[in-house]
Amino acid sequence: MGHVIDGKAVAAAVRAEVRARVDALVAAGVRPGLATVLVGDDPASQVYVRNKQKACEEVGMRSFGHRLPADTTQDALLGLVRDLGRDPQVHGILVQLPLPKHLDAQAVIETLPPAKDVDGLHPTSQGRLMAGLPGFRPCTPLGVMRLLDEVGVELKGAEAVVIGRSLLVGKPVALLLLERHATVTMCHSRTRDLGAVVGRAEVVVAAVGVAGLVRGEWIRPGAVVIDVGVNRKADGKLTGDVEYAAAAERARAITPVPGGVGPMTIAMLLQNTATAAAAALPA
Ligand code: NAP
Repeated sequence: MGHVIDGKAVAAAVRAEVRARVDALVAAGVRPGLATVLVGDDPASQVYVRNKQKACEEVGMRSFGHRLPADTTQDALLGLVRDLGRDPQVHGILVQLPLPKHLDAQAVIETLPPAKDVDGLHPTSQGRLMAGLPGFRPCTPLGVMRLLDEVGVELKGAEAVVIGRSLLVGKPVALLLLERHATVTMCHSRTRDLGAVVGRAEVVVAAVGVAGLVRGEWIRPGAVVIDVGVNRKADGKLTGDVEYAAAAERARAITPVPGGVGPMTIAMLLQNTATAAAAALPA
């Protein structure tokens, strides 16, 4: 039975590191601030935003919550994002996705100043990741990398397989693994014989959204398995993309769902916000 990677404990350690950085920033005259923008009243989005605001306050950051009605116009939303972009107390801006259908999320993301793009979704942030330049990396991929570091896996030269190629998770995870010199294979819905590809991997990152897609018997003995997937079962409980019990038998280390990657995302958002605030310190 492999080691169960405790995402809650690692996330708590990251939050403690951020708290120390916030204390130092406050002593230097800058209190980091995160603005959240929530459009409409989707219950899941409300919970996510509330958790992000609470997490900010717990590490001593300012949190500026903005709620707009579901019928907000594109112009009103862009106007708010521009105002936040100019507000010196706001170091990071998070627009909760998905937006109601009549709004153009890409246009909103492109209105964010890249210096406040703590979600790492602006094309500038994505381009800088691609180019290996400093910039904001998306939070969930950063969380995945931090968990791999906690396990102490040697990424240089390792066979890594990423399943899923979204802009939010799969692609940035693959680029971050490549930056660390892993040999990366990206899989997606058209991949032939996924089992054979996964069977080569020393590191598996699953970010698909299909419960149990990755079979336990596919896992190479001794592999490290990071399950980003969040799927709701018929009984209402959450489960990942990996057949957990069978995979855990073969893996050296594996993340559970819930309690693995999930808690890391907010912790890495706080880390990015502290970094954005540090860049705002007077020279
Ligand atoms: P997404 O945009 O829907 O992308 C899913 C990816 O999976 C796509 O690239 C798709 O391939 C691929 N895929 C679908 N069916 C497949 C199959 N049968 N075999 C192989 N690949 C397949 O999803 P996402 O935003 O990346 O999120 C992925 C999962 O992570 C979801 O469960 C989501 O809830 C979860 N998530 C968790 C966190 C967290 O904090 N823990 C954060 C973000 C996302 P194509 O490109 O070919 O369509």
